[in-house]
Amino acid sequence: MNHPLQCRCGTIKGYVVRPGTANRAVCYCRDCQAFAHFLERADTVLDEHGGTAIVATLPKHVRFTQGLEALACMSLSDHGLLRWYASCCRTPIGNTPRDVKTPYVGLIDSCLKGNSPSLQESFGPVRMVLNTKSAKGRVVSTPASNLLAMLGLMKSVIGTRLNGTYKRNPFFATETGRPIAHPRELTKAERERVTNAAQ
Ligand SMILES: [Zn+2]
Ligand SMILES: [Zn+2]
Repeated sequence: MNHPLQCRCGTIKGYVVRPGTANRAVCYCRDCQAFAHFLERADTVLDEHGGTAIVATLPKHVRFTQGLEALACMSLSDHGLLRWYASCCRTPIGNTPRDVKTPYVGLIDSCLKGNSPSLQESFGPVRMVLNTKSAKGRVVSTPASNLLAMLGLMKSVIGTRLNGTYKRNPFFATETGRPIAHPRELTKAERERVTNAAQ
């Protein structure tokens, strides 16, 4: 069974194939916080410690069925992750590396939390916490046993790269390997605003 994906207003819809290798994580890094502030969605995206909940998986498991033209992307720097969002309603969608040959996406829970099945039913419990140093307040680190689950995902990222199926990636054009939307670079003033908000 697939897990439904959609932006808040319903323009963008799709689904995630539920492979055994998807992992739930929470990232506390300042860039993820800045992204939520950029979208003016910090109140709904970030938890009380400033964490962004994600489902880490392979881009080939993500399918968009409508509204792809509303998918936009930004980056906090010229070498940072591509941060994808719905331009219609500023729902964060996910983060991908800039290089299509690294087939990874961290889908943000905001676009996966709809009706049933729950995130827990589809992807299991949160197994990883990342960048806890920039969390607000104290956050317990990841138990070592859960690192094995993440290792499974990393193995499939490498496998996908080697067998060529990395080209099946809805965020990048198959022919050129370029992102389907031009990454919006922030102006200096915008960057200052969102990074200060993330402190
Ligand atoms: Zn929308
Ligand atoms: Zn992060």
